Amino acid sequence: MELREGVLKVGSPFLGVVNQRSGQVIQLCYHCHKCTAGCPVAFAMDYGPDRLLRMMQFGLKEQVLCSSDIWICASCETCGTRCPNEIDIARVMDALRQITVEERLPTKERNAPLFHNLFLSIVKRLGRMHEASLMGLYKPLSRDLFSDLPMGLKMILKGKIPLLPHRIKGSDEVEKIFERSG
Ligand code: SF4
Ligand code: SF4
Repeated sequence: MELREGVLKVGSPFLGVVNQRSGQVIQLCYHCHKCTAGCPVAFAMDYGPDRLLRMMQFGLKEQVLCSSDIWICASCETCGTRCPNEIDIARVMDALRQITVEERLPTKERNAPLFHNLFLSIVKRLGRMHEASLMGLYKPLSRDLFSDLPMGLKMILKGKIPLLPHRIKGSDEVEKIFERSG
């Protein structure tokens, strides 16, 4: 407890904002690398979670928020489970994505915010995901019509992607949750 109170006194204003929004204490990270070693998508990131946390400790706001890492993170929670200091990095990544969208910052993964928004709008409306609707909206809006096409067709032919959407029972409740969370 004393350690937590002590470390909270150090750090940049940016770190304070991310700590507050994520409910984590990023200063506690001592860079053991366990999070990045277990992250299934670290290979595709610019930095990886442990380096990203170090950059936050140094207050490198722009580099952190414009990195690919925050959009590539799949929120799988592996890193938080492995962290000896119980830092929930998936929640940190959520907070970073929110700040990036609010501040309208550019991102290298330029279609990632579009994908997230469409994904959520479908879950809000149907109470569940409908992949064919998602692709029908995402492909033209992202202007990326043909990548994944062979795989998508294969999945449709095998019946893995239903063409018609359906609402789940209780989808109204899901919609209310979205409205309550603003
Ligand atoms: S596992 Fe925890 S303490 Fe270790 S580098 Fe990652 S965030 Fe830091
Ligand atoms: S939550 Fe994100 S950063 Fe953590 S292990 Fe999963 S993909 Fe990697």
